[in-house]
Amino acid sequence: MICRPFPKLPQSFLKKYGNPILKIRSFGTSKQDLDVDFPESRPVMITEVIRACTVTGNSDKLDSEFFWDMSLGKRIECLFNIATEENSNEVPFELRCGNPNCEKPMDVTITSYEIAKMQSNIDQIEITLPIGNSTDNYFFRLPTGSDQRKWMKESASSSDGEIEKAIIKSLWVQKPGQELPLDELSIHKIGEELKSHDPLVDFKLTTFCPYCNFEFCPKLNLEKLLINQLSDIKDNLISHVHQLARVYHWREDWIVKIPKARRQEYLSLIQRAAYA
Ligand SMILES: [Zn+2]
Repeated sequence: MICRPFPKLPQSFLKKYGNPILKIRSFGTSKQDLDVDFPESRPVMITEVIRACTVTGNSDKLDSEFFWDMSLGKRIECLFNIATEENSNEVPFELRCGNPNCEKPMDVTITSYEIAKMQSNIDQIEITLPIGNSTDNYFFRLPTGSDQRKWMKESASSSDGEIEKAIIKSLWVQKPGQELPLDELSIHKIGEELKSHDPLVDFKLTTFCPYCNFEFCPKLNLEKLLINQLSDIKDNLISHVHQLARVYHWREDWIVKIPKARRQEYLSLIQRAAYA
């Protein structure tokens, strides 16, 4: 099994968890990947997929809380690496051209280098907010999977405005004697700054259409696209297991361990034999 380096984590995070040696493997290279249930609650599924695809130096699996505690951006970066196939560093997506006179479907690929370049290793950001006639600097941490889990529970019983304020308050790293302004302008500024420091959560891709050359910058739900990619990988794997087990009577776990390129060679031989 080919593993790649685990995305870089902030120093404070590594300190908390004792700097474990981690690597990451592609999804669809272990039998347990066939058990992943895609309609399951997204944050829970993401945590479990990252945990299952993280390879530790020893055989012990890390506790789920490690993965819940990672920032949302880091979790997406992990998911991206998991969704790239072995021997590849890119994930393909299908888009529609943004030119209203064209709108043709087009293929784009994003590489893990582009994703890693966009991600920073900070876990706190500093925002200057106006206080009366002066200003003060406030610190906020980036939202994590644990925050998302908590907010999802709370959002069922609160209004959007209340949730936004509660989210901002929970991300604020309090300094003694400091009071957080929660007027409309401050909330807007904090929201925009948090978004700009989490480019994988608020993902925009600059691309151009190969048919009409129109350049556009669509906003994409990267997390959702990556989950769709994982779901496609699983469907493909099941189809390969089905076809190879039927002809060669190999066991499911053997087939999963065969690299995809070689599985496809066997499949083309089966197809050729069927038409011979
Ligand atoms: Zn076009």
